[in-house]
Amino acid sequence: MDVKINKVMKRFGKTTVLQDINLTIASGQCVALVGPSGSGKTTLLRLIAGLEKVSGGTIHFGERDVTKTVPSKRGVTMLFQRPLLFPHLTIGQNIRLGMRGDARQVSEWLDRVGLPGREADFVHQLSGGEQQRASLARALASQPNFLLLDEPFSSLDLPRRRELRTLIRRLTEQQGVTTLLVTHDREEAMAMADYVYVMQAGRIIEQGRPVALSETSPFFGDGLALDGTW
Ligand code: ADP
Repeated sequence: MDVKINKVMKRFGKTTVLQDINLTIASGQCVALVGPSGSGKTTLLRLIAGLEKVSGGTIHFGERDVTKTVPSKRGVTMLFQRPLLFPHLTIGQNIRLGMRGDARQVSEWLDRVGLPGREADFVHQLSGGEQQRASLARALASQPNFLLLDEPFSSLDLPRRRELRTLIRRLTEQQGVTTLLVTHDREEAMAMADYVYVMQAGRIIEQGRPVALSETSPFFGDGLALDGTW
C-alpha cells in the first residue's frame, strides 16, 4: 500500500507547526523522516496515525482518503521509543493481543525476532533490547499495511540498535510492509531508508535517496549537524 501526503499543514492555536508537507511512500518501501528536535517530525507522524487532525491537506493510504478516518480504522501500527508491553501478561499473551490468525504463530514470531521459547516469560524477565524485540513481534504479528516507527531504537545501546535495525528491515521487506521511520540519527536513516525527507522548522527542506543526499546535502551530509544530536 502506498502512502501519499498532500499539502498537509498543522496549526496549534495560532502557531503553524507544519506547512505544505508533500510526501510519498511507495508500497513496501521505507522512508525516513529526519531533522532536529522541534522540526515537526512527531506531529507529522501523529497526523498520519490519526492521533491529531490536519488543519489542511489530505492523507491517502492507497486509494483511500483517510484524512478524517479514526486511528483504529486506518490499519496503521506504531512502534514507539520505549517498548509498550503489558507487564501483567506474558510475552506470548502480549503478542497474541493484536494478532490476526492462528495463535500458534506466536512462537514463530518469537523465533523470527530472536526470542525463541520465551512465550511464558513476563516483561520484567526480558532486557530492554529483548522487550523492544517483543514489541516488534507484536507490531508485525498484527500484519499492518503500514508501520510507523518513532525513534524505536533510542532506548538501546549501539550494538542492539544495529541488530534491531537489520531485523526490522529484513522482516518488513519480507512482508512488504510500507514503513515510515522518524529519527534524528543520520546513520539510522542511511542504513534503513530507501528515501529520506529532511525537515526543518515545520517544512520539508530536502529529499532524496540516502546516498545521494549524504553527498550533496548541507543538512544530511557528513559532519554537519543542525543541532547537537545528529
Ligand atoms: P520533533 O518531533 O521534530 O521534535 P514536534 O513535532 O514534536 O517536533 O514539534 C514541532 C513543533 O510543534 C514544536 O515547536 C512543538 O513545540 C510544537 N507542538 C507539538 N505539539 C504541540 C501541541 N500539542 N500544542 C502546541 N504546540 C505543539
